[in-house]
Amino acid sequence: NFPAEVVPQAPEDPLFGLSRAYKADPSPDKIDLGIGAYRDDNAKPWVLPVVKKADEILRNDPDANHEYLPIAGLASLTSKAAELLLGTNAPAIAEKRVASVQTISGTGAVHLGALFLSKFYKAEGANRSVYLSNPTWANHHQIFSNVGLPLATYPYFDKETKGLDLDGMKAALENAPDGSIVLLHACAHNPTGVDPTLDQWREIAALMKAKKHFPFFDCAYQGFASGDLDRDAAAIRLFVEEGFELVIAQSFAKNFGLYGQRAGCFHFVAAPSEEAEDITTRVASQLAILQRSEISNPPIYGARIASIILNDPALFAEWQENLRTMSGRIIEMRKALRSKLEELGTPGQWNHITDQIGMFSFTGLTEAQVAKLRTDFHVYMTKNGRISMAGLNSRNIDYFARAVDQVVR
Ligand code: PLP
Repeated sequence: NFPAEVVPQAPEDPLFGLSRAYKADPSPDKIDLGIGAYRDDNAKPWVLPVVKKADEILRNDPDANHEYLPIAGLASLTSKAAELLLGTNAPAIAEKRVASVQTISGTGAVHLGALFLSKFYKAEGANRSVYLSNPTWANHHQIFSNVGLPLATYPYFDKETKGLDLDGMKAALENAPDGSIVLLHACAHNPTGVDPTLDQWREIAALMKAKKHFPFFDCAYQGFASGDLDRDAAAIRLFVEEGFELVIAQSFAKNFGLYGQRAGCFHFVAAPSEEAEDITTRVASQLAILQRSEISNPPIYGARIASIILNDPALFAEWQENLRTMSGRIIEMRKALRSKLEELGTPGQWNHITDQIGMFSFTGLTEAQVAKLRTDFHVYMTKNGRISMAGLNSRNIDYFARAVDQVVR
């Protein structure tokens, strides 16, 4: 039934290949800049101190068990998760215009949203094409095409400035058929690290409103980007305040360091109207059916940890402190890398390293330079020139800057 013409060998996921090559390299100098996970200054995974505390509370809870969660997940998590995105006093929440479902982290949330749209985004005026930024998180292409939605792209990264190509983006969204689905990274764009400013977001929102486009926010780095949860949610809040009907995929992998626990949520927000509550109830009922057929019930452990933290003011404050530790270290590494390259007089401009934000930086290094960094210096990064800032630390940053300097010359 499955000959090679029908089931060809799929290529290995490039990031897994990279990680395997890194592990096999015996050099003591080797640096892993591929990983999309936070590392501390000793290049080790970091369990957030607040997560350790919540874990302790959970372990000592005599009522904790391993029963199924409801289909829509842990209500104490999903309600706080919506507040985290939209703001505690958001009118959308008070007006019951938000439907929230716990998902298998951010990936599961993007998938549930894609599945929902593939089934229901077909009223008059809806255009089913999904516009993705070029480039975007590679998995977006797979997730949306797997549910049969046609893909299109909009320009995003300006190779010259290594910043946002706002004109290109706006022109593409202007030319897209009205009512298209537009995927937007809420903050800390992956892979470029380039985010629109608030004024640029306002321009994008105005254009999307005029074109009746449907915003699909992917929010995988709230609080991890700037260290400020509200600031990293500003784009989403702007669109909600502008009265858009939209959806949000929310991951708790990076901001809680709960990667393998697969904690996340999907949210639908209805536009303000007489029928908004009714629409939200109907959408929630259909999301529950989709969730039932996909995973039945979302996973419980990481959800409880996140919920304990989000529902306790002291732990919440400590979490914010932990977020500042992670984002602060990354921002420090950006500053150090830029100044070391400038000190070395490395050819080119390096301001983009500190202008970009979040886990990743799009360095502008070419594929040939990336290959040379790997063979000559044991530095592992994706061939598009993306580096995970979390892979840099006070011990390897000098070595890395010197390596970049040499391959660029
Ligand atoms: N969306 C973006 C843009 C990401 O970068 C990631 C993780 O790298 C995700 C979604 C989903 O991650 P997870 O499924 O681990 O929450």
